[in-house]
Amino acid sequence: MGDTFLRGRTALVTGSTSGIGLAIARALGAAGARVAVNGLGSEEQVAAALAAVRDAGSPEARHFGADLSDAAAVESMMQALADWGPVDVLVNCAGVQHTAPIGEMPAATWDKLIAINLSAAFHTMRLAMPGMAGRGFGRVVNIASVHGLVASVNKSPYVASKFGLVGLSKVAALEAAGAGSRASGGVTVNCVCPGWVETPLIEPQIAARAAAHGGDRDAGVRALLAEKQPSGRMSLPEDIAATVVFLCRPEAHNLTGAAIPVDGGWTSQ
Ligand code: NAD
Repeated sequence: MGDTFLRGRTALVTGSTSGIGLAIARALGAAGARVAVNGLGSEEQVAAALAAVRDAGSPEARHFGADLSDAAAVESMMQALADWGPVDVLVNCAGVQHTAPIGEMPAATWDKLIAINLSAAFHTMRLAMPGMAGRGFGRVVNIASVHGLVASVNKSPYVASKFGLVGLSKVAALEAAGAGSRASGGVTVNCVCPGWVETPLIEPQIAARAAAHGGDRDAGVRALLAEKQPSGRMSLPEDIAATVVFLCRPEAHNLTGAAIPVDGGWTSQ
């Protein structure tokens, strides 16, 4: 068994029925945390996510199915979690994407992306962080993106939401900086900013490039990487999860207010 330094702690990972969030939920479970899984999906998908988190070593995993585009649903979920938790580790990972030029971006899509990618994180943070401060320990990790640091065409709501998430996290980091002590662990707030990670979220973008290469998916992946990610390698969801676990460690108590790129050099260009 690995280092279960999160034993006795409770983590909420939004968007953990798939992709990066599921890998984070599994990794936090392996570190000993009870895990509140949140996210959409079929009954089978939710059951599989819970089983994966338990199999990874989590002492307890439960699904909280709030639709994060609905602020009232986020509030109800956080009330339920105050009893089941309280939340010591909050990972805001749920996110959606839609690509189109600004003039063709539906206004309703803008509202939905901002609600899920940005406002939901504000609501979970405003409801979880006072408790963290009171207990002297808390870790908030927001999964932003390279698109919280630099822009790309055709992603106006996504880039706006991720820049917003980076800014929100810095404010929260400052407000929480004095909470707790070295012994209690302190309260930190950070963003992880991935480049390309192979998950369902980016399949439409791979498919668009594959179509230009006669439907060859591998060629589509290579084309996507060649545009922006100098390493030429995709990250795996587990790679992102490892960074999140590090941010939760006791020795990361002074690592706060950061937006950490995990992007193969994308934002160094
Ligand atoms: P994914 O599509 O595999 O997972 C998204 C998760 O969010 C799912 O669990 C889904 O159910 C959940 N979700 C979506 N809408 C929701 C809603 N209304 N309410 C509750 N849950 C909802 O995508 P992923 O690639 O794992 O993305 C996770 C995060 O990582 C996102 O915030 C995304 O912006 C970010 N990210 C991804 C990449 C990448 O290349 N995949 C790169 C940078 C950042």
